[in-house]
Amino acid sequence: MASMIAGPQPFERIDLHAHSHWSDGTLSPEELAALAAARGVQLLALTDHDTMAGCEAAARACAAAGIAFLHGCELTSLWRGREVHIVGLRLDPHSATLASHLAGVRAQRAARIRTIGVKLAARGLPGEAIAAAVLARPGTPTRLHVARELVQRGHAADEDDAFKRWLGQGQPAAVAAAWPGIADTVAAIGAAGGAAVLAHPHRYKLSAGGLRELCGEFRAAGGLGLEVSLPGMAQGDADRAAALARRYDLAGSCGSDFHVPGIPWRPLGRFAKLPDGIKPIHERLNARAAE
Ligand code: AMP
Ligand code: MN
Ligand code: MN
Ligand code: MN
Repeated sequence: MASMIAGPQPFERIDLHAHSHWSDGTLSPEELAALAAARGVQLLALTDHDTMAGCEAAARACAAAGIAFLHGCELTSLWRGREVHIVGLRLDPHSATLASHLAGVRAQRAARIRTIGVKLAARGLPGEAIAAAVLARPGTPTRLHVARELVQRGHAADEDDAFKRWLGQGQPAAVAAAWPGIADTVAAIGAAGGAAVLAHPHRYKLSAGGLRELCGEFRAAGGLGLEVSLPGMAQGDADRAAALARRYDLAGSCGSDFHVPGIPWRPLGRFAKLPDGIKPIHERLNARAAE
């Protein structure tokens, strides 16, 4: 069964958005749990892109370290032609419906990496070798892995440069993908008994009206939470996210979106407290667990 949290909310340090090497993070689940313990995190969710492969190992390591753990996943979704990310929390790792949804997305991701390879090759880069290297590693293949290959092979100065020159929108190796819509994505999370949380709303380059429509549709589809506190979030973005959470009755979630140690603007387990009047998502999980 998926983990459940019992009793009143005893957590002060919570991180409900973090990646391991099963997607585009660099730490193993065990290393992530050890870092969480060192930082005093009391409740952790592992939320790799479109896979739960690291959750069992993370759950074991967290149990050994005395950290409460939620099985999680960050699901890639499409809303009005725009990629949005939906975090599933307290997921049943044995849900066949969710497993099949995630396998479908990973297959789309693999096809996208192969197309990126073809596009890079058309520009004289070793695209086929890059795609093969990315697809050979276990876990979810992402464009960040392609970016790392481009840097290692001297075709970009750093990962950000790789997106700016090759992979980002409008660049030679940009590839659009038809990810599942938000209703399908929220339904897959619901089929696994989880809570759906709309991730990092400030990163979608949407107008205020666009964000309201996205949050309204997400809530109507059964979404329960919104990430309102992330490290480095500008005060204006945090205020807008808090207003959206209140308006659409979404619980607040907070996470670092940790990928790699040593990057000061995404530290595991460090972020502002939830704003006043926002119900923490883990308290809603409590209520659901008690039902
Ligand atoms: P994908 O999920 O395949 O689209 O890969 C995108 C991943 O690359 C994201 O999850 C981010 O972790 C990472 N990333 C790092 N820098 C950038 C950037 N400049 N633009 C887009 N994604 C980036
Ligand atoms: Mn990522
Ligand atoms: Mn994301
Ligand atoms: Mn993430």
